[in-house]
Amino acid sequence: MEKIIIIGAGLVGSLQALYLAKKGHTVEVYERRNDIRKQKLVAGRSINLALSNRGWKALKRVGINTVVEKTAIPMYGRIIHDTEGNTTYQPYGLEKEAIYSVSRGGLNQLLIEEADKLENVSFFFEHRCLDIDVESNTIIFENDTREIEVKGDRIFATDGAFSAIRARLQKRDRFNYQQFYLPHGYKELTIPAGENGSFLIEKNALHIWPRGNYMLIALGNNDGSFTCTLFFPFEGEYSFESLKTEDEIDNFFKNVFPDAYELIPNLSKEYQENPTASLVTVRCEPWNYEDKVLLMGDASHAIVPFYGQGMNSGFEDCSIFDDILEDNNLDFNKAIPEFAKTRKKDADAISELALRNFIEMRDLVADESFLLRKKIEKKIFEKHPNKWMPLYSQVTFSHIPYSEALNNGLKQEKIMDKIMAKPNIESLWDSQEVEDEILSLSANA
Ligand SMILES: Cc1cc2nc3c(=O)[nH]c(=O)nc-3n(C[C@H](O)[C@H](O)[C@H](O)COP(=O)(O)OP(=O)(O)OC[C@H]3O[C@@H](n4cnc5c(N)ncnc54)[C@H](O)[C@@H]3O)c2cc1C
Repeated sequence: MEKIIIIGAGLVGSLQALYLAKKGHTVEVYERRNDIRKQKLVAGRSINLALSNRGWKALKRVGINTVVEKTAIPMYGRIIHDTEGNTTYQPYGLEKEAIYSVSRGGLNQLLIEEADKLENVSFFFEHRCLDIDVESNTIIFENDTREIEVKGDRIFATDGAFSAIRARLQKRDRFNYQQFYLPHGYKELTIPAGENGSFLIEKNALHIWPRGNYMLIALGNNDGSFTCTLFFPFEGEYSFESLKTEDEIDNFFKNVFPDAYELIPNLSKEYQENPTASLVTVRCEPWNYEDKVLLMGDASHAIVPFYGQGMNSGFEDCSIFDDILEDNNLDFNKAIPEFAKTRKKDADAISELALRNFIEMRDLVADESFLLRKKIEKKIFEKHPNKWMPLYSQVTFSHIPYSEALNNGLKQEKIMDKIMAKPNIESLWDSQEVEDEILSLSANA
């Protein structure tokens, strides 16, 4: 058995600790922050995330899906709020298919708790990784004012989008690295619970206020509140830069998000006091140093949040690494380089899909032609599930590799462009002719 060092006890690091400890290895997890289990989570103030099938599968493999299920809120579709406050409902998938709202802090606490129950796992909080010497597998941490050296047989870097280990690997020859920010940032706001913890808007849906170049979304929390996220340009006519005073904020929300405005009592205070955060995409290669060091989760592939797949893809890293380890008779020497090489294309694909989905969420979901396109696809999917699965379902409800889903999606887009260009598609859409044409184009794609 080996001594494994994991850097970062976030979502992916603590799940990876569970996976490797269950294989019998001695696992040490080093985390920069203090123990999140000691922090009282303020409901409505911590981000909630959408957990979907890829994430659930990874949790199930280490037997913790049922604990997570207890607090997860299913969201069966999205509710679109227009500028008049009218709403329309769009289901995400087939009946009973849902994505789940979970508290990021709550899930992180639970993963650490479950890993900490195992005798062969130790957590070291307030240990910030400063550097690594990859030749000797030695990592330097800062704890208080002391510097500590730790050696391990294998090192898993799950220290997030601004990974210290990745920064070190970047200095090596032939390490490729790309990072870019969106011109948009985000800010969290709160819709509090109604009387007796009731939900003031539909609990089992993800709410979107799409407004072209920006949007507001809301996901429910267990106490009846909703965490809203405003995705908004940093600069420009309507932007974080231009919207600052109480009057500016109030007038803008009253006009643009009238129904949300009524539900957020501390709007201008929260807007002014809550931080504005940025949205980064990170791509790099290789994710490994030989068979000793491996980057996973956001450390290797940070993506924008618009497909709700950052954590899900990081969790899937853990289950896919486990598959590769099993296929190689538990030999890390083979599994680490193989994972780094084969998983990269899927991370690139979900990174691309997430960027594209921002446009869909903030703009297209309110577009008539886009909605008709989705209605046609849904009909074909329901009648012929083995011949046509919409891209959203492939990404969210299936385990098809992301790179395959992206390729399938591009083919489907071309087919649907042809169908939507047909004269009178608005009245023809439900006809046998359209159905046959889609199936025939799809069979030959
Ligand atoms: C607004 C927003 C909404 C999102 N919504 C979704 C969603 O709906 N669904 C979804 O699947 N994903 C979502 N994501 C993405 C998701 O949050 C990330 O993909 C996920 O947190 C990545 O997990 P991680 O463990 O790789 O990194 P992190 O969660 O960032 O954890 C990294 C850990 O490493 C620690 N660390 C950092 N540096 C050091 C160091 N030098 N030494 C020691 N420890 C260190 C950090 O303190 C942290 O605990 C969202 C992201 C954002 C920003």
